[in-house]
Amino acid sequence: MANKQGELDRALCGDTRALARLLSAVEDESPRMRELIKELLPRTGRARVIGLTGAPGVGKSTMTGALIAAERAAGHRVAVLAVDPTSPFTGGALLGDRIRMQEHATDEAVFIRSMATRGHLGGLAAATPQAIRVLDAAGFELIIVETVGVGQAEVAVASLADSVVVMLAPGLGDAVQAAKAGLLEVADLYVVNKADKPDAQQVVRDLRGMLALGATEPGGWKPPIISTTATTGDGLAELVTGLDAHWDWLTRSGQLTRRRLARAREEITALAFAALRARLDSGRLAKGGLDELAAQVADGILDPFQAAEDVLHAAEDGAGDGAAEDVRDGAGEDVRDGAGEDVRDRAAGG
Ligand code: GDP
Repeated sequence: MANKQGELDRALCGDTRALARLLSAVEDESPRMRELIKELLPRTGRARVIGLTGAPGVGKSTMTGALIAAERAAGHRVAVLAVDPTSPFTGGALLGDRIRMQEHATDEAVFIRSMATRGHLGGLAAATPQAIRVLDAAGFELIIVETVGVGQAEVAVASLADSVVVMLAPGLGDAVQAAKAGLLEVADLYVVNKADKPDAQQVVRDLRGMLALGATEPGGWKPPIISTTATTGDGLAELVTGLDAHWDWLTRSGQLTRRRLARAREEITALAFAALRARLDSGRLAKGGLDELAAQVADGILDPFQAAEDVLHAAEDGAGDGAAEDVRDGAGEDVRDGAGEDVRDRAAGG
């Protein structure tokens, strides 16, 4: 334990190997994680988190490398979490892609990490906020969370950021595809990369056409469309300016606080549901487990509302001690009542 404390101190003092070990503990959902996060929490809240998402090949890694260089020139410490929720077991392939960013590998003020998780607690959606906290506490002023924007999980992870950049490019990852993936709604800034390619202007036009449909409220933020060529750095200055302007707006409008609150709410809910689910699956909330209940419902012996209520009552009564291990933890407590009401309401309302 003393060793652990030492490791935390070392990580917070800039020891990147100690930091890497803390992030592994987070990824593996090690029992140490909860204690660690509790200890870190008072030191968090200072970093600015930028989410960068888009289809494979649009130029995210190249742009991240360019952004790192720009931020380093401004004297900031930068951390990158490269997240690929679609392939939790093949982080290695993703790492190969990161080699372009390795020019920064010897710079102590730059920390790059590919994230994968083997855990069950909501997977990356649960692990990523913890990893962000670790990096925030370690004093990185800017944290870039890079995700492959191809589905729901990616959108969720991207939405953990204070500023979400959705990256498009001609071909795969154009405006229509991004719209289908639900990526357009989460964007604070649009980047149309590969502006050196002839079709890039068409992507910008398509995007403008789609965005014109949605109105901006007075005092609201109107996401800009920024054309870039990540390989040459063209448009990078505009992106940095756009990010700064968004940060200004977030802090002045009170949106930053609102966003962080909404995120915390999501996080608690996700942890609580995951814990409840784990307890249910392990059979600790119902005799014979979920299978037994399911069999009774399938056979028409038990109605599903009653079955759900039985499970929630068992949770209220504290059945299945050791549940704490599922959540690392406690978050389940807050949700029980609300979830119970839901089932009862639905049962009552037919
Ligand atoms: P990611 O999969 O989104 O991270 O994309 P990468 O950064 O790995 O880039 C994919 C490919 O596109 C690489 O070969 C890059 O060199 C190339 N690329 C990135 N940005 C640009 C750009 O602005 N213009 C052109 N022509 N190629 C680019």
